[in-house]
Formats: sequence, C-alpha cells, structure tokens
Amino acid sequence: MGIVRKTKAVNTVLNIFEHNNEAKSVVNLIELVKGEMNKTTVYRILDRLEQDGTIHCFNGKDGLKWYAKCNGCSENHHYDLHPHFQCTNCDKVECLSLEVKIPSLKNHKVDTTDILLMGQCSDCLT
Ligand SMILES: [Zn+2]
Ligand SMILES: [Zn+2]
Repeated sequence: MGIVRKTKAVNTVLNIFEHNNEAKSVVNLIELVKGEMNKTTVYRILDRLEQDGTIHCFNGKDGLKWYAKCNGCSENHHYDLHPHFQCTNCDKVECLSLEVKIPSLKNHKVDTTDILLMGQCSDCLT
C-alpha cells in the first residue's frame, strides 16, 4: 500500500489521533469530521491508515468498531496483540500495554486477537 498520501482529509483524521491518545469509535470519528468529509471518505481513510500501521482497529461493545493510534507499528508489522478496556459507565476505551499470552493451538495459526475487558475506568471509580 505504501505511504498514505497526505491529503487534507487524511491530515484531519490523523490530527484527531495525534492530539489525544484515546481510542475513537467510528461513529465518534464521523461526527468529529462532519461537514468536512462524508462517511465513505472517513471509512476509506481509516482503512488506509490501518494498512499503513498508523492506527489499529478493534471491536468494542455493541459490535462497534474502534480505532486508536498504534505504537511502533509499521506497514509490515502490526503489534496489535494488546487487549483493550472499555468502561461500561462512560464508554471510554483504553489500549492496555499488556502482553496477552496467546495459547498455541494444534494445527491452527493465530493471526490476531481481539480481547476486550469491560468494567469501570479509574475516573468512574473515584
Ligand atoms: Zn469510565
Ligand atoms: Zn489498542
């Protein structure tokens, strides 16, 4: 795929991820750039940034797609094995910098995992 062309639309989406470390749901993102680009463009940009190793994608509760900035990922090497935490109270999603031990399965090859822990975040507990 190569480097994402830095169009204005791409930059707008990138900026959202650069300026805070929080994960964003696709619904959230579309809302944030409303008026600047349509849904289809948002989906296309997210796809390309994901392929380039800039952001990663995972499923949150209610089957919603979430995106967050990758740490040290590249086009050829995604380190997406970390779990995510979603707060059932405020819906905030965090990337957890934990390593999850993937069990080795006989005669199977595991490519990705999608682990979502749910509960109350530190803000909601205090
Ligand atoms: Zn919370
Ligand atoms: Zn993450």
